[in-house]
Amino acid sequence: MKYIERVLAELNKKYADQPEFLQAAREVLDSIAPAVEKNEAVYERNAILERIVEPDRQIQFKIPWVDDNGNAHVNIGYRVQFNNSIGPYKGGIRLHPSVNPSIMKFLGFEQVFKNSLTGLPIGGAKGGSDFDPKGKSDREVMAFCQSFMTELYKYIGADVDVPAGDIGTGAREIGYFYGQFKRIRGVYEGVFTGKGLSYGGSLARKEATGYGLLYMTDELMKDHGDTLEGKTVVISGAGNVAIYAAEKATQLGAKVVTLSDSTGWVYDKNGIDLALVKDIKEVRRARISEYVKVHTDAVYTEGKGVWSVPCDIALPCATQNELLEDDAKMLVANGCKAVCEGANMPTSLEATKILMEGGVMFVPGKAANAGGVATSALEMSQNSERLSWSFEEVDEKLHGIMKNIYKNISTTAKKYGVEGNYVVGANIAGFEKVVDAMLAHGIC
Ligand code: GLU
Repeated sequence: MKYIERVLAELNKKYADQPEFLQAAREVLDSIAPAVEKNEAVYERNAILERIVEPDRQIQFKIPWVDDNGNAHVNIGYRVQFNNSIGPYKGGIRLHPSVNPSIMKFLGFEQVFKNSLTGLPIGGAKGGSDFDPKGKSDREVMAFCQSFMTELYKYIGADVDVPAGDIGTGAREIGYFYGQFKRIRGVYEGVFTGKGLSYGGSLARKEATGYGLLYMTDELMKDHGDTLEGKTVVISGAGNVAIYAAEKATQLGAKVVTLSDSTGWVYDKNGIDLALVKDIKEVRRARISEYVKVHTDAVYTEGKGVWSVPCDIALPCATQNELLEDDAKMLVANGCKAVCEGANMPTSLEATKILMEGGVMFVPGKAANAGGVATSALEMSQNSERLSWSFEEVDEKLHGIMKNIYKNISTTAKKYGVEGNYVVGANIAGFEKVVDAMLAHGIC
């Protein structure tokens, strides 16, 4: 049995109860085959694949907190420190009822390759909790965050592990996490990214994932002799990634016609009114259905459905496995030209295959959404030198990083004889840098 197949078979047996992790591992291991085959003997002797699929450590802890009625609750907290071969552990904190060890591990694993692709010195990690901030008061969120950090502080630090935002963790949560860390540890260090601007945050971090996604899409289009000008764009999600993806798409001349949340989706043929969406989501923390109360000619539909809208470009920016086989078939049938992932693993393996075979250009999340964590690394640099860069400076660096990632994944795909296959390009390019460091460090 070939090395990759053996490791995958062992993983399937060992972690049969972790479907998301197995999906992420299969996607990576299958597509790095040409790179592994070239060095199979060395990799196998050094157990490179066995070591890269196993997190360095997984921390799980209890988070007791008290609600506004005086009732106590217990949630589970996680931090998966996956790989720190090329830099301190780095990755967000997801707060969502679906969070479990499989989701934490898949996200941590993806982060290793994504962070490597940024070209910056950051290792991969992920954390989170099954706590749902939706519908909770500010005080309840604060109580939860303080309790979470009362455990997590032991394991993080500016040169050890630097958490950040993700689904359910925004500026408010990061503020409470940081405040509690500072209180317990008594040090003022760049231990979190996505911080508020008054306490060490970076300009353009909030916009970075969405903007970066569009810089990547723009590069992709240009490389294929096209532009974003006049294109119809369908976006899922209405969080930080989706909102700033829509903003940059609009600035680049495209028309964004959909957004969604976990309850339903809106279609506005005139182009989404982003000022209204920001008010609904960032200020009022309300549902996207509010949109049609103002724009009565837009349509709100409960449930899923954005991929049924004919488009030139589709940007899944909500969550994992939100673009499935039937969705991919609709996108192909409707003549969609490109799918670039703003979320982590939003497209299933089967759907990815359908898109690529159907001639749709496809850029996986670990490359397309890397602008967020790349800008987090820029926030770490600013914290280290105790300076703040201007919005333009950070944005320009972000733009350069996304262009480099595109160049890296497309030349890697070409080098391995699969031009235009950005899944292979991203996985091999991300993998090779980490493996190089792992080999240099010896067995550890
Ligand atoms: N949660 C984001 C991601 O999936 C950002 C992580 C970070 O900035 O550390 O990449």
